Amino acid sequence: MEEVTKLICISCPQGCSLEVTHDGSTLIKVDGESCKKGVDYAEREISDPRRMVATTVRVKNGFHPLVPVYTFTPVPKVRIQDVLKELRKVELQAPVKGGSVVVENILGTGVNVIASRDMPVAK
Ligand code: SF4
Repeated sequence: MEEVTKLICISCPQGCSLEVTHDGSTLIKVDGESCKKGVDYAEREISDPRRMVATTVRVKNGFHPLVPVYTFTPVPKVRIQDVLKELRKVELQAPVKGGSVVVENILGTGVNVIASRDMPVAK
């Protein structure tokens, strides 16, 4: 059944208001976009919405007890809570190198989780 969903395109700071007509996950038309990226964004949002995840994980013997981490690419929106839960179980060993892979292919999503910064050993 055809329905209209209102979205804000987050592909650039302009934040166009989109009216997306779709039938389930099939895109019918998009109104309100200022460029093609808005149509691509709408299509992704109705078929496979994804988001970047940023959080912290524990570090044993680190200068600080936590290090910030992020997903290298967006993960399916429906898996975000599972990803956060999985990352709560992780405890790294200091030193941690910024940019290093903390968890590879988290929960089989094909997405690696990366350390945002160095975390040296506690003094
Ligand atoms: S539709 Fe284009 S101009 Fe509008 S917010 Fe998206 S990327 Fe930016």
